[in-house]
Amino acid sequence: MRFASVSHEGSPLLVRVDGDHATPIAGATELGRDTSAEWLAAARPAGDPIPVSALRFRPLVPRPAKVICVGLNYVAHIEETRREESDYPVLFAKFASSLAGAYDELPLPPECDSIDFEGELTVVIGKAGRRVPRERALDHVAGFTVANDVSMREYQYKTHQWMQGKAWDAVTPVGPELVTTDEAGDGTGLTLRTTLNGEVVQESSTDLMIFDVPTLIATITEFTTLEPGDLILTGTPSGVGARREPPLFMKDGDTLITEVVSIGRLENRMVSER
Ligand code: ZN
Repeated sequence: MRFASVSHEGSPLLVRVDGDHATPIAGATELGRDTSAEWLAAARPAGDPIPVSALRFRPLVPRPAKVICVGLNYVAHIEETRREESDYPVLFAKFASSLAGAYDELPLPPECDSIDFEGELTVVIGKAGRRVPRERALDHVAGFTVANDVSMREYQYKTHQWMQGKAWDAVTPVGPELVTTDEAGDGTGLTLRTTLNGEVVQESSTDLMIFDVPTLIATITEFTTLEPGDLILTGTPSGVGARREPPLFMKDGDTLITEVVSIGRLENRMVSER
C-alpha cells in the first residue's frame, strides 16, 4: 500500500494512494508518531476518492521526531570524496524544518553557491524500538520512500561537523509516498537515479550500500529510540556535483528529479531566494 501526507483545498489529509486516486484515511491527517505500521494496516477510509492531481504532496512525514542521515554509505562515493571507509556509519541529523514536499520548489539561499544533490533511498520507521537486533530490524520498518539530501557544500565543510550544510530549511524533498514493505520489499535491489535538467547524474543499485538497512537500524537504536514516522536517509551513491570536474552545482530554474524505481519519484524546481 501507498500512503501520503497531502493537502487538499487547504486541508491536511492522510491518504492511501491507488493509482491516480487517493482515499482519505480516518483518524489522522498526516504520517507521524501516531501512524505505526500496525495502525496503517488497519486504516479505514473516510470519504470519497480524490484525483491525485488535485493534491499537494507535503513532506511525507511533516513532523518526524527524528531525521537521521547516513554519510558515505556507497564505496564509489567514498572513493570520489577521497575519504577512508569506516567500520561504523557516518551519521548526522536534519530537522523537520529541513524537509520539503515531493514537487515543491526548493529555495536556493543567497549565502551559498555550492548547492549539491544527493538522491537517497529513505526508510520510514513503523514500530518503536531501542537496541533492536539486526535480525529483527526489518520488523521496525513501515516502508520506503525517496529523498534528496540537498547539501550546502561550503557550509558542510566550514567545520568538521556537517550540520549547517545539511539541515538548511526546506531543501530536502521527501516522498511522494510511503510504500509499505509488502510492496516495497526490504530496500535491496532497487535502482536509484538522480537527474538534473534531463541529464542522469547519479545511478546505482541500493545493493551497493556498505551498511544495509538492518545494520543501520541496529546501529542507530543502540544509542536512541526510533519511533513511527522517523526517517533514515540511507546515503547517496557517486556522482555528486562537488566531486565532478568541473563541479556541477544547482542554480535558479534547474529541475531536479530523484527516483527510486518502483518506490517513487520527486520532481523539484530550484528557485533562488536572491
Ligand atoms: Zn546524503
